[in-house]
Amino acid sequence: MRLSKSRFTAGLQCARLLWWRVHEPDAPELAPDETRQAVFDQGHRVGAAARARFPGGVLIDLPHDAFEQRVTATRAAMDGGAPAIFEASFVADDTFVAVDALERRPGGWRLVEVKSSTRVKTQHLQDVAVQVHVVRGSGVPVESAEVMHVNRACTYPDLSDLFARVPVLPEVERILPGVPGRLRAQLAMLGGDLPTVAIGLHCEEPYPCPFQGRCWPEWPADHVRRLYFVGKRSWELAANGYTSIDRLPDGMTLHPAAERQRRALRLGRRIVEPTLAVALERLVGPLAVIDFETVSPAIPVWDGCHPYDPVPAQFSCHAQEADGAWTHHHWLANDTADPRPELIRRLADACRGARTILAYYAPFEAGVLAQAALAFPKLHDPVQSILDRIVDAHPLVRDHVYDPGFNGSFSLKAVLPVLVPGLGYDDLPIAEGQAASRHIERMLFGDPPPHGAERRALRDALRRYCERDTLGVVRLVETLRTLAAGAAGPV
Ligand code: SF4
Repeated sequence: MRLSKSRFTAGLQCARLLWWRVHEPDAPELAPDETRQAVFDQGHRVGAAARARFPGGVLIDLPHDAFEQRVTATRAAMDGGAPAIFEASFVADDTFVAVDALERRPGGWRLVEVKSSTRVKTQHLQDVAVQVHVVRGSGVPVESAEVMHVNRACTYPDLSDLFARVPVLPEVERILPGVPGRLRAQLAMLGGDLPTVAIGLHCEEPYPCPFQGRCWPEWPADHVRRLYFVGKRSWELAANGYTSIDRLPDGMTLHPAAERQRRALRLGRRIVEPTLAVALERLVGPLAVIDFETVSPAIPVWDGCHPYDPVPAQFSCHAQEADGAWTHHHWLANDTADPRPELIRRLADACRGARTILAYYAPFEAGVLAQAALAFPKLHDPVQSILDRIVDAHPLVRDHVYDPGFNGSFSLKAVLPVLVPGLGYDDLPIAEGQAASRHIERMLFGDPPPHGAERRALRDALRRYCERDTLGVVRLVETLRTLAAGAAGPV
């Protein structure tokens, strides 16, 4: 039985999680789905870019499970005078670690952990601590340690400051005395049966556990896990015996929408506030409904972009004509050129006749448009014209309507099938935003990108998904108007 840095950090999160990882390495829950694979791929690209910051570095380029050969090759690289070693591998205390970059320093070695995140997180320190413990346990003097993370301040085309390097050895030194005991405890635990661990916040932090489906029950519709805007507090409420939303004490302060949720559950029916009619009066026609799909590369590729900036690469717009009929407009980038000038030009055209432009979660659309105008001053006027007319459709539901079928969520995916029966996403090959972003990124930057029939099918699936979002808001507003007309009054 051998530990590794990823096993060690998994064990810190939950003993049960570590036990399954070690004893069921082929568990289906551990196979990366497309989203996790995309995160890994992004991590690999960041890792490769980080290595370029260490001139003359030597990569220990051997299979992941060739432990002995990797350790031997690392020693050879150190003895050979390499200024830096990537994936430098060591074993001590029955624990294997591969260090992202081990950099030669005058007084010893600097251990560098590369992260795709934009800041140092608490869990990174544990990650570095186990590496320092093993590297020092192998007789190598570690005189400093850093987390090298992506720097949000970096602005394309200047990528010289793509990474920030943060010294963490003082904090890590404080953790180090506890590491040997934790390693021993984990190894002992792994020698026994599956441990019993109560579910809790650790199932979600620092990383969502892949085994939630094994440990978590099916949450009933009225469970506090489904309370709107509850976040981590649901675990605290459940631990204090409050498992049912409708039994939460009246004096407990809740978000107004969560308060409406509690009333709806107690009444066992939908609540429509009379305030909805007033809110809908803001929607002066003709209307346009817009939606963007974006890509957010960790390493920016377009002028003025920072790491992870969302850049719109697709839009859908349902625009109302003077006679009230709806016309659909759509555009999707097809190459690696900056999509913003073309997208904004076409979007401004599509919205030209609209007096109100609706988007579900409009602050997101407004934010990416404002950022585009900063990068392209020529786009300022068309962007400002859209921003002057944009209205968020999300509060129209959240602040005035609750149906027990929402299950505590006001996302379009949650409310649409309830308020507009028959109009959901189940019939679409691409049915959620993260998948759309991932596919657009693959289409634009894939190596190789999809071609021919596959590309055409992908573009069609992306068009249908984005179109469904705007058509959904069109139908949603129609439904809200009907509901407002029939609202009986406050309950
Ligand atoms: S779901 Fe929670 S209790 Fe179960 S293995 Fe994961 S972290 Fe542990």
